[in-house]
This record gives sequence, C-alpha cells and structure tokens, in this order.
Amino acid sequence: MLPQDRAEKILTLGQAGWSVRAIADQLGHSPQTIRDYLNGRTTPGLRAPRPSLLTDPLADYCRQRLAEDPHLRPSTLFNEVTELGFQGSRATFYRELSRRLPSLSSHGPSRPQEDLPQDLPGMSHPSVHTHQHAPVLPRPVAPITGEALTSYLTRLAHANHLTLTEVLAVLPSWFSTKINNRDDRAQHHMLIPATAKALHALAHLATTTSASLARALPAFGAVDTHSPVRATTACHRCTARRGVHQPVPVHLPAHQKICTRHGIWLSDADQPHLDLAACPEIITAQRRANRLLRHCTPQQLMSAHLVVAKMIPPWPSSPAGVPFHWRHRLLILQTANHRLGIATDHDAYIDAAKYPDAIALAATMLTPSHPHGIEQDSLAKPSRSPRQRQL
Ligand SMILES: [Zn+2]
Repeated sequence: MLPQDRAEKILTLGQAGWSVRAIADQLGHSPQTIRDYLNGRTTPGLRAPRPSLLTDPLADYCRQRLAEDPHLRPSTLFNEVTELGFQGSRATFYRELSRRLPSLSSHGPSRPQEDLPQDLPGMSHPSVHTHQHAPVLPRPVAPITGEALTSYLTRLAHANHLTLTEVLAVLPSWFSTKINNRDDRAQHHMLIPATAKALHALAHLATTTSASLARALPAFGAVDTHSPVRATTACHRCTARRGVHQPVPVHLPAHQKICTRHGIWLSDADQPHLDLAACPEIITAQRRANRLLRHCTPQQLMSAHLVVAKMIPPWPSSPAGVPFHWRHRLLILQTANHRLGIATDHDAYIDAAKYPDAIALAATMLTPSHPHGIEQDSLAKPSRSPRQRQL
C-alpha cells in the first residue's frame, strides 16, 4: 500500500487528465498500481483485505454441517475444518465464520460459554442413590443407537406409566443437568467425573447393561466423538422392529444418509424420511460411500460431496439421456413416496435423487490418480494417510 499522500497525488493527477503511463513515470510506480487507484480497486489509506482463509468449499462445509446438526459446537466444527486444511487460528475461524454465515452470530461461534451446563446444583455432592436402595423399573427399554438422552428417558418413563420428572427424581442429578443442556453430547469437565456413576444408576433402573447404554447414547461420551454426526430421526422400520412407533431423535454419523437394511433415506430432522425401494441404486451408493471411508476421513467425503453436488448437470443434455439422469430418479422417488402420503416438495428428494451421481463423482475426486475409483483398490494400502490429503 502506498502512503496516503502519494495515493492522493495519483488521484489528483488522474483528475487533471494525466495518462496512466505519465503518472507512473512521474511518481515511479507501476502502471497497474496507478490503474488500481484510478479505478477505485485500491482506496488511499485502506489496506486491501486479506483473502479469507475460510474458502468457499470450507464455508459450504460449515453451512451444511450447521444445517444438519443445529447444536453442533463451534469448537467441534473448528476441528473438522482444520482437518480439511483450514490454516487459521480458532479466533480467525470464529471471526470468518461469523462474517461468512452472519445468521449464526446470535447463537454460534461467539459464545465463549458454549459448553457450560445451565446449572450444576448438587454436582459436587456424592449421589445419595446407591444400587442397594435404588428402585428398578418393571419394564426394561432398550436404547436406540445415537438416541438423545431425553428421548430415552421419556420412553423409559412412559413404558412404565411414569413421567419424565418422576424418573429423573430417582436418578442422580447428573441427568437433570445433562438434559437441561442444549446438546447432551457436550462432555463438560464438571460432569465427567460423575458420568460412570450416572451410567450405572440408569442401567440398574432400566434393567439393561451399562455397556449397551454407553454404546447407544452419545450423552455418555463413550461413542467416538471425533467423527462428525448429524441430527435426524432413527429409521422408523428399525425402531418398529423393537416396538417403538414414535419418532426417535438420534445423532448418526454425518455421512450416513440411508438405512441400507430397509432402504430408507434418513432426511435431516425436519423433513420426512423417503422410501428408496424404487431406486435401489441410491442404497448401493451409500454402501459405496461407506467403502470410500476406508481411504478418506468423513470430513473429506462430505466436503467432496458438497463440491461435486454443484457439478451435477441440472437437466439431461438430450432426450436420450433422460432415463439416466437424476431428474428421472427424482420423479420415480416422488411418485413412489407420494403414494405413501409424503408431500413431494422437500429438498430431501433432490438430495436423494442426486446421491448416486454425487458419490460416483466424489469417488473420482478423492482418488484423482485412480481411474477406476477408490473402492476397486480396497485391498491396497492408501498411499498417504487420510489426514495428509487436502481437498
Ligand atoms: Zn432401518
């Protein structure tokens, strides 16, 4: 940047009718510098903004992650984008995220107390409940994988003709604190010491094992917390097999879009699930995506998915191409699901219809050196570790 008086001199000479070349010769700067000031691309006294470290693909990634997991903690998102190649500090990330996604600033990255439970009464006191005196509920309830703690406790209460409050009253205060928190996956340091005791108390009350509760419920922090997850509801056919007929809110691995056993598209939390039976290639694509994860991280897969989804042609190039185009699949999906009483105007239809094309393209993108796609080489060791690959 030039000194302000020098920059103003350029403007004065320009207004006086001097040519770019004449000003450049007179002041000893390049013609391009002179042009930048005369055209207003550079303003005297203002430093040109530094390019954002949060690139468009990374910003898209953040937008997608916050849409599919509304309670996603900014610190978790920071770790994910760092793995994808973001090179700024945590503070830079929060600042650029607020600038790129301004709608977040009210509830997102700027809150320094993000992980604090809302209240911690009694957390420092030893629990008064011991196994010898704690009640046991007559009807056991099995947890659903990824289920929110509130959902599990409510189902447990209702199965035993109790209210949630009545169940909480016989459990350690850890549970009340945990479900008052916005996101029961957050492992606050003041709650962690009491987690094992809480887990055993619930297992005892519900006549189940601590291991199965810890495996299924993210609230206990035993599930892998490094892989990104998204908020959805459990596959209704999976839950129906276990006698559960109401929607069960769960957090699933973020790349897992489909229950491959039942061929159900698990839409984001506010959209209906779709039956994929009429389009088996979508179910096959989920299996292909799972295989891709042998060679890349979930973050890399999701980021690649976002990039390639924009590259998929919106319309077939010719009438002959119609049967192979995703719009054809979209129509089949809409028709089949409309018969099941599901409205046809949800984004989930487009996401599902594009999914096989997107995964095929993502496979190519994630293994640019391999012409046949990553999974055909599944026996070979990856040449680089996933963390070294940058998108
Ligand atoms: Zn299922």
